[in-house]
Amino acid sequence: MNPTKTAHKRNIRYANAPISKQVKLGGKTVVSNALVKQGASNLTPKVHVKKGDMVMLMTGSEKIGRGKTGKVANVFPKTGKIVVEGINMVTRANKQRSVTGQSGLIKKEAPIFASRVMLFCTACKKPTRIKHKVTDNGKKTRICKHCSEAFDA
Ligand SMILES: [Zn+2]
Repeated sequence: MNPTKTAHKRNIRYANAPISKQVKLGGKTVVSNALVKQGASNLTPKVHVKKGDMVMLMTGSEKIGRGKTGKVANVFPKTGKIVVEGINMVTRANKQRSVTGQSGLIKKEAPIFASRVMLFCTACKKPTRIKHKVTDNGKKTRICKHCSEAFDA
């Protein structure tokens, strides 16, 4: 079997996979084969939420918090992942490295793919998509598709 032929067929899911597992396409390093569509020019995943947004987890098991809402604590545009408060909690064993540092088992949030969440509207209590609206002073804002509530105050 020709190894160069099978290399790009393998489904590589994580952007932080070893470099040997990443694929190059058109001179760009591609995060996931699933993201590569024919004729796509933008091969980096787009994060559709911002830090501080309320989001709802739409996929995955109930154990990691499907259907739960939380605030976006961090965004990693390079890998297309986000950290949401209270969602996808993992337990990490920590060694005490400084005087103030904690040791032992620590529960913390692990990053998830941004495509797994939807923006959550606190006014109509629904996961929603956004519409763009230009305000009177010429600024672009995001509003709820259901109830037109503004997200950027
Ligand atoms: Zn709404």
